[in-house]
Amino acid sequence: MRILVTGGAGFIGSHLCERLLASGNEVICLDNFFTGSKKNIEKLCDDRRFELIRHDITEPILLEVDRIYNLACPASPIHYQYNPVKTIKTSVMGTINMLGLAKRVRARILQASTSEVYGDPQVHPQREEYWGNVNPIGIRSCYDEGKRVAETLMMDYHRQNGVDIRIIRIFNTYGPRMAVNDGRVVSNFIVQALAGEDITVYGEGKQTRSFCYVDDLVDGMMRMMECEDFIGPVNLGNPTETTIVEFAHRIIQLTGSTSKIIYKDLPADDPKQRQPDISLAQQKLDWRPTVDVEQGLKKTIDYFASLLTQGR
Ligand code: NAD
Ligand code: UDP
Repeated sequence: MRILVTGGAGFIGSHLCERLLASGNEVICLDNFFTGSKKNIEKLCDDRRFELIRHDITEPILLEVDRIYNLACPASPIHYQYNPVKTIKTSVMGTINMLGLAKRVRARILQASTSEVYGDPQVHPQREEYWGNVNPIGIRSCYDEGKRVAETLMMDYHRQNGVDIRIIRIFNTYGPRMAVNDGRVVSNFIVQALAGEDITVYGEGKQTRSFCYVDDLVDGMMRMMECEDFIGPVNLGNPTETTIVEFAHRIIQLTGSTSKIIYKDLPADDPKQRQPDISLAQQKLDWRPTVDVEQGLKKTIDYFASLLTQGR
């Protein structure tokens, strides 16, 4: 198949492009390089089945493809809050453009949605039928509400125009090729620990997250895209839940670092707890994560350690 991956030069997108090529597909990677980098995909550029297009999905594009994975959107709070208007345009106008493309060429389209559609959840763990608790006017809203509108657009193009859609809600994912400077907790803590700097826990560190290794996520994404009788939305994440302060201790232990934990202000609207209920993914996709956190973190630590020795 010929497969378009928007945001293909980003963290998750680059792993997805690699796996799609390895499964024998042609891949068109489309990216505006806001947070993605050529380095993430440089290994793939020698493959004649791989094509790279510099393009912004807020502008329409004409292509002939069989599948579209719509991942283009900055994902870390620092990056999506840098230009919030652009973030929401990417989710809304970008998704409309990709749905228009899917409709024209009758391609199946998968939207990378997020656990952030549940906001600061009052139901725990989160199941797909929960509608969420999102602040519509806060500093995270450009991302959360943008992704919620993108889900609405997907459903309406499906109901109104018969577009073949899939929706996945991705929970916190980590692994090699996360950007060093993206401010997410996994990259921050590992880079701080490796450099012997203070580990910055926000708030008291009692908030929880559940971290999924990128290879597991990509496996779930591809299963969902090729699943014939289920459009989602479906949660994809690792249900192993940890507090942020426990996570800091884990990183210190795994890196053998001498770093100390310091406490900083908790950003506004930071969700207090997050854990996916993945029963639906297990039932419909026969999917569950297989990489345990220690194994995944070791690979990620090795990645950041090699970047730091190369001077980032
Ligand atoms: P990332 O920032 O590494 O990747 C996003 C990619 O999209 C980058 O390559 C960026 O340059 C590109 N991009 C951004 N705006 C664009 C635009 N307007 N036009 C074209 N390209 C654009 O982030 P990631 O972690 O790889 O996330 C990928 C997708 O998965 C995002 O849609 C994100 O919302 C979703 N997601 C990620 C996580 C996570 O934990 N990483 C969790 C939930 C959802
Ligand atoms: N966090 C932290 N220190 C950091 C970066 C993040 O304590 O240096 C916290 C953050 O407040 C949040 C959690 O870690 O509670 C996960 O943050 P991240 O930005 O990785 O993802 P998200 O909040 O989008 O789930």
